[in-house]
Amino acid sequence: MNEEIIKRKVKGLSRALGIRNLKKPNFVEYIETGPLQGQIKAVFCRICGMAIKTLIRGEEPLDSKEINGKTVVYLPVMLAETSNYAEATLDFDDGSKHIVALCLGCAKGAKASILEEVYAADLMQWEQEERKGGGEVCWTDSLVNRTPTKVSEIRTLNR
Ligand SMILES: [Zn+2]
Repeated sequence: MNEEIIKRKVKGLSRALGIRNLKKPNFVEYIETGPLQGQIKAVFCRICGMAIKTLIRGEEPLDSKEINGKTVVYLPVMLAETSNYAEATLDFDDGSKHIVALCLGCAKGAKASILEEVYAADLMQWEQEERKGGGEVCWTDSLVNRTPTKVSEIRTLNR
């Protein structure tokens, strides 16, 4: 990684250090042990900390086995949005847009100052995923320097 990219990355991360008002700046929780290690366990609203995606149990059994005279049924689990899940489109000062997942209440009431922290949490998340080997982030000046101004659209799951 060249020096210019490192400078931009450091700038983005120092911006993330300005996070003061988010309840869950580390909004993605991973499974820490077992065969599903590294998979996402839950996603939280960065602002209030409420769970917006959790693991739910599927209906159709994957397999069943007799173990010590008892039938053990293996059910699938999947990450699913909770009823308060919302996707908020952030408008930036440079005309660009970015979608973040929040709870519906926070998406509706978010002020520009808190949106800045929400975006900084994303920069932090991208750096963490990059460090874990999840692919290189394109650390451009615009990625690091742009500032969110408002939520222009909110999408919910209609169910
Ligand atoms: Zn919230």
